Amino acid sequence: MIDAGDLIGWYARAQRDLPWRRPGVSPWQILVSEFMLQQTPVARVEPIWLDWIARWPTPSATAAAGAADVLRAWGKLGYPRRAKRLHECATVIANDHDDLVPDDVETLLSLPGIGTYTARAVACFAFRQRVPVVDTNVRRVVARAVHGLPDAGSPSARDLADVAALLPDDETAPQFSVALMELGATVCTARSPRCGVCPLRQCAWRAKGFPAGAGPVRRTQRYAGTDRQVRGRLLDVLRGSTSPVTRAELDLAWTTDTAQRDRCLDSLLVDGLAEQTADGRFVLFGGAGEAGGADAQAVTAHSDSSAAEANRRR
Ligand code: SF4
Repeated sequence: MIDAGDLIGWYARAQRDLPWRRPGVSPWQILVSEFMLQQTPVARVEPIWLDWIARWPTPSATAAAGAADVLRAWGKLGYPRRAKRLHECATVIANDHDDLVPDDVETLLSLPGIGTYTARAVACFAFRQRVPVVDTNVRRVVARAVHGLPDAGSPSARDLADVAALLPDDETAPQFSVALMELGATVCTARSPRCGVCPLRQCAWRAKGFPAGAGPVRRTQRYAGTDRQVRGRLLDVLRGSTSPVTRAELDLAWTTDTAQRDRCLDSLLVDGLAEQTADGRFVLFGGAGEAGGADAQAVTAHSDSSAAEANRRR
């Protein structure tokens, strides 16, 4: 068990001052933060989120923005498909939900780009609902404090029920959820848990003397040289230009492995993050219209076959 009073009391003293936790932040703005925080550290999200909500404070404002502007504003947060999905999500909320973020998990789950974690995070953090919110940090704290294991292993269907069983039965449940996540992010970290300052008086892993896991050591994910890096370089070129760029300009973004570069450019077209103008140049998705002119009509790749067609035009 995890003592809710200890955890919530610690959170009141030790929580980080994050802008999306401040009073007056709307459910939409919290939802935007959750999209951005998926697989991206807080320090990188914070400035982008502040600019984003100043520029597009509501779903309808976001929906009215051009797709290329949205991709540009996403900057270097990585995993840019999230920006596209966020734009789609804003459009659905603006059109079908009176510009208001739904407050129930089932409806949230029906929106573009919203999965199990984000639906519950929004229901909990924006609408103060008693729902389990399970991310990597929460799974690790529960594995250690409750199950006496050094780490959580692979995600499983049991995780939600596991965390639901820990939630207090009263109105403090949302505070408990955010505190559990904060503990995993700042104290009970993956590599160096700071047990000396941990507010939990009971921790099964500590009580057992911190036994090592039997599983394989997890390697840190490599970034250098991956398709993610190459896609990021290509998008940087598109983002940095106010007009369509030529294939030759894009080629300079990655010269190490030309086959990899071609594959990554194809994938950007297929994912709808980039598009090709009628004269064979490239822009961010939605940017062909901005470029204007008869030679700048989009040849958008929505499928493998249309991407192949777009490629042939290079
Ligand atoms: S005592 Fe250490 S291992 Fe246990 S929950 Fe706290 S920080 Fe994590």
